[in-house]
Amino acid sequence: METTGDARIFKPLKFCMFDYLIIGQGLAGSCLAWQLVQRGKKILVLDVPQKNRSSMIAAGLFNPITGKLMTRTWLAETLFQSVFDFYPEAERALNQKFFHPMPLYRPFLSVQEQNEWMGYSAQPENEKFIERIHTRSAYGDQAYDAFGGLVIRQCGYVDVPVFLSSVRVWLVQQNAFAEEWFDESQLQYDNTGVTYKQWQASAVIFCTGVTSQTRLWQALPVKPLKGETLTVQLDEAPKLIYNRGVYIVPSAGNYCKVGATYEAHRLSETITEKARAELEARTAELLRLPFQTVAQDWGMRPTSPDRRPMLGRHPNSKNVVIFNGLGTKGVSLAPYFAAHLADWLAGVAEIMPVVNINRFKALYSKS
Ligand SMILES: Cc1cc2nc3c(=O)[nH]c(=O)nc-3n(C[C@H](O)[C@H](O)[C@H](O)COP(=O)(O)OP(=O)(O)OC[C@H]3O[C@@H](n4cnc5c(N)ncnc54)[C@H](O)[C@@H]3O)c2cc1C
Repeated sequence: METTGDARIFKPLKFCMFDYLIIGQGLAGSCLAWQLVQRGKKILVLDVPQKNRSSMIAAGLFNPITGKLMTRTWLAETLFQSVFDFYPEAERALNQKFFHPMPLYRPFLSVQEQNEWMGYSAQPENEKFIERIHTRSAYGDQAYDAFGGLVIRQCGYVDVPVFLSSVRVWLVQQNAFAEEWFDESQLQYDNTGVTYKQWQASAVIFCTGVTSQTRLWQALPVKPLKGETLTVQLDEAPKLIYNRGVYIVPSAGNYCKVGATYEAHRLSETITEKARAELEARTAELLRLPFQTVAQDWGMRPTSPDRRPMLGRHPNSKNVVIFNGLGTKGVSLAPYFAAHLADWLAGVAEIMPVVNINRFKALYSKS
């Protein structure tokens, strides 16, 4: 297993009682840890930061209007309220900068598309997410936009590596983190709680992304969807996020993250020439500025067949819980659904049926 170079070794914590053990500290585990501590819970997070875990590779983009058909994303109002509450609050508490709200510009390809968007933008449910429609070139010095384009608001990016490392330091400071690979065969559980090595808790929560295909969760269809990204260097910083065929997300200096590819089959654990060529070709179609590729990365998104998160309790044990299936939109889904799961654990909410793992019950009964 390859881990990030900055991994630090922590002394194992002594025998201890916790409310919850959380396995995995990607976006899911980090947001959940945050929500549980806010509710006064004593937690322990176990994680070994794998280099290619999805959260470290993510460009961190959040955008309420997505997909080839450019439709409002599922639960947009609720999720984006949560994004704009959660990350700035975490920034203040952790005294770090990782939340970068910024408009996103999508050039039109034709007059027809321009006209269609004039219509959509008048619909009240879209109005709050559309900043402006340009009917002629507005960013022609940086991008190809002969037919103008759409400026979407409530977009931006989270610098996920900075967010994760800040949460990790915060967890270490309160003795709530152990850098340890969780071995499921050593987990004991019954109706009163769980025991793992020297640690006891009322429940264990799996936030392990694509590595969740273990004995306990093998019937849950978490499917890896490989993605590759490029880091490119430009001569000047982009004025906003550009998106058409690829997204071009600014980061420090004149560097940008370009992504992403989607590969559900032939999942080689490496970067590929094919992905690089595809991303560079699409970047050249979108961006007028010259660019130079300086890095390429790959990762596996933990997706579900119906593209909804997976939350809930294992059918055979009420003290074994999962938070997974964040798919292609972990940045915008994690804050809201971590709070949702924490409320459910506290007994003050029911899990929404559309995200409850009960929907895969038929698969469990076959195993
Ligand atoms: C190329 C690419 C680009 C993306 N871009 C975006 C984007 O722009 N915006 C967006 O919203 N989303 C994006 N995503 C998706 C996003 O990354 C995921 O939705 C999200 O990161 C999933 O988070 P997670 O915590 O569920 O899983 P992960 O990030 O995989 O975290 C799981 C953690 O659990 C740990 N772990 C697993 N098993 C064990 C064990 N047994 N013991 C200890 N630790 C364990 C792993 O090491 C890891 O740290 C992208 C993904 C990819 C691959």
